[in-house]
Amino acid sequence: MVDCCSSPGLMPFEKALETMLAAITPITDIERITLTDSLGRVLSTDITSPINVPPHNNSAMDGYAFAQSSLANQTQLKLAGRSMAGQPYQGICGKGECIRIMTGAKIPDGCDTVEMQENCQVAGESVKFLVPRQLGDHVRYAGEDIGENQVVFTKGRRLSAIDIGVLASLGIQELTVFRKLNVALIATGDELKALGEPLGSGDIFESNSYALAAMLKNLNVNVINFGVIIDDETAIRQAFIQADKQADAVISSGGVSVGDADYTKLVLEQIGEIAFWKIAMKPGKPFAFGKLSNSVFFGLPGNPVSAMVTADLLAMPALMKLQNCHPAPPITLKAKTLTDLRKSPGRMDFQRGVLSYNNNGELIVESTGSQGSGILTSIASANCYIVLPAEQGRVPAFETVNIRLFERFFA
Ligand code: AMP
Ligand code: MG
Repeated sequence: MVDCCSSPGLMPFEKALETMLAAITPITDIERITLTDSLGRVLSTDITSPINVPPHNNSAMDGYAFAQSSLANQTQLKLAGRSMAGQPYQGICGKGECIRIMTGAKIPDGCDTVEMQENCQVAGESVKFLVPRQLGDHVRYAGEDIGENQVVFTKGRRLSAIDIGVLASLGIQELTVFRKLNVALIATGDELKALGEPLGSGDIFESNSYALAAMLKNLNVNVINFGVIIDDETAIRQAFIQADKQADAVISSGGVSVGDADYTKLVLEQIGEIAFWKIAMKPGKPFAFGKLSNSVFFGLPGNPVSAMVTADLLAMPALMKLQNCHPAPPITLKAKTLTDLRKSPGRMDFQRGVLSYNNNGELIVESTGSQGSGILTSIASANCYIVLPAEQGRVPAFETVNIRLFERFFA
């Protein structure tokens, strides 16, 4: 299976991402759904427009439509009728005539130009045009937005609210998408208590599965939550086997280091093909990726910050590939750091920062403070990663650093 970093040293972040993506085969099952249910779903075919949008030449203004040639030797035209949105003028507009027209209304036969009402003086049946007009002014042409048979969206697009509006404008009521992924979540740790349970001595509330389930909402997948599994080899094996039966992807958190109670790696070696990586990234050094009989597996570190960051930067892109979705590359910027950034060479750092502008309009970034991997509030108050390359050491204040904006997964 995927080559694992068994050699000493850490695997660079980009190499881990690339290797993992290369090992994932997207699902092929498709289904028909209604447009109303399509938010966040992934198109399994290109969509071509069955019609011109707009379907007819129409007015961009409330005003008067006419043949521009009618105004060659005169500024006054005779009002011959009206064209309203949905109630077009039925006749033909003759030379020397104009038609009252509303925004969106069909341009009557015989007309090619529209003047807005603010530039007209109306006296009974006569309309005086105060400003000269070019041929075609204020006319929106049939097909000017989308032409018939034009490819509107391509396979692999995740449908947004705007996309749904576009598809509705084409009259599309149903479409074919890839089926939803089933993603199993498993939290491991004897100390973890589900919300609502009393906390005993040494216990903490289990939080990773809540945050991960919320992040997964952005991918529109079905989440199967296995809750907390104790640090016991048999219990973990059973949970992984069950999860594999039901899911396309299994995400566990915790137990992935090399402590006495860390069984993730051991169990995965027994029941699947596993690549255990020590990734040269901070937070999030230990990370397991592999394949079970039916599913792909992501073993996130237990520390909440490490779990969120590795989910964001590694598991989410992998799940998107599994979904057939082609995400846009992350937005990266350069900004001046206002704070010293502690760092030792060795791993790529994804520190959490707050990006903003100073009074000179320059992009500036401030660290959110303690970057310990257990400090979840360091993400909560941030809006970006400060990405520091592996070989980088401490960064003094006022140096320029690379920023990667948070994607919608944390929203
Ligand atoms: P582990 O990776 O199992 O060694 O866990 C590392 C740290 O993360 C420990 O302090 C755990 O208590 C904590 N942790 C592990 N899993 C979770 C979870 N699901 N929710 C909150 N904290 C966790
Ligand atoms: Mg643990």
